[in-house]
Amino acid sequence: MSKKFKAMVLSCMDPRFQSLVFNYLNKKGLKGKYSAFTIAGAAVGVTHNKFKRWHTAFIENLATSIELHKIEKLIVINHRDCGAAKIANGKKEFSLANENHIHKTSFQSLKKILKKKFPKLKVDFNLMGLDKKVQKFK
Ligand SMILES: [Zn+2]
Repeated sequence: MSKKFKAMVLSCMDPRFQSLVFNYLNKKGLKGKYSAFTIAGAAVGVTHNKFKRWHTAFIENLATSIELHKIEKLIVINHRDCGAAKIANGKKEFSLANENHIHKTSFQSLKKILKKKFPKLKVDFNLMGLDKKVQKFK
């Protein structure tokens, strides 16, 4: 299997972020080297209870990409002003603090799941804004 596939990218389906994510990954030298899983909310979509039926699809796709493409890393790109994060937020005000909390929680939940299912997989958590600024999370 070719060694050129390095990562899977989990990002949101939001139309405003498709070219931003694409350009961000190109700048990192990843053009043509990643498989893409694009779903509403990115990490929010694959961890939050409101999107339960999507969780398995993600895990199975990730397992498939590990098997087929020998990927070593998952790059997660959530974004600001995300509709799925607003759904997850419920009736509360979508304040900066609440928005941050939703993303942080989704990263932590995903980290826990991945540690158990794919202990060797590296993970990189990012939160992107419409201004193209990217905030890193651990
Ligand atoms: Zn979104």
